[in-house]
Amino acid sequence: MTKPVRIARYLGDDGEILEGIVEGDEIAEVSGLDSMLRGGRRVSGKPHKLSAVQLLPWGTARKVVGVGKNYAAHAKELNSDVPKEPLLLVKVSSSLIGHGQSIELPPASREVHHEAELAVVIGERLRRASEKECAAAVAGVTCLNDVTARDIQRAEGQWTRAKGFDTFCPIGPWVTVGLDWSDLRVVCRVNGKVKQDGRTGDQIFPVPRLLAFISAGMTLEPGDVVTTGTPDGVGPIQAGDTVEIEVEGVGVLRNPVVKAG
Ligand code: ZN
Repeated sequence: MTKPVRIARYLGDDGEILEGIVEGDEIAEVSGLDSMLRGGRRVSGKPHKLSAVQLLPWGTARKVVGVGKNYAAHAKELNSDVPKEPLLLVKVSSSLIGHGQSIELPPASREVHHEAELAVVIGERLRRASEKECAAAVAGVTCLNDVTARDIQRAEGQWTRAKGFDTFCPIGPWVTVGLDWSDLRVVCRVNGKVKQDGRTGDQIFPVPRLLAFISAGMTLEPGDVVTTGTPDGVGPIQAGDTVEIEVEGVGVLRNPVVKAG
């Protein structure tokens, strides 16, 4: 397998949205999302220091589909049974933010939780696809924080509001292409302290099964994101906290937490 490639979106010097390849502590501009999802192509634009640019969330996701209770230990901590079939949810694209951008706690909730997850970015259109076709259609993987207003989730029959507040879908810092995602460590740290520490190999419905189940009824388009559930250890975040989601082989997605203004 070739070396994994990290692709990211970021703000250019003139405020334009660029796409680039991350190598070491630099990001080099590339053109064409399609070519990037297939490994990328370097163009002549001069590389920027990664620390000097604002990374942006993955921007072509028309939808972010998630799954509830995909790890047995997490279902147990919610006092729930393990589902017989994937329990799907949707995160609205307006909730997406990138690495370094702030998670804003809304006045409507008193209990906002972190959820560390492996997310996959779709590279090929999937409609009623087999598990094998689904596995081949994963373009890359990234870290996602499925931020959830737990009190609202508990109080309401469905989860759109609890998981759909502005800034409740941090994703990034980049998409890693060419990584075996079947058994990666997924960690959440709050202010440096480990809160969640799981492995994607423990998922009840592994990625190909999940994508096949989704595509049976909902066409997945290139750029769409599927986030694959959270291990146990979810818990509250407060204004002033810094939350990190780390997926082995991908990197660390870091976001400060503030009160919504
Ligand atoms: Zn989740």
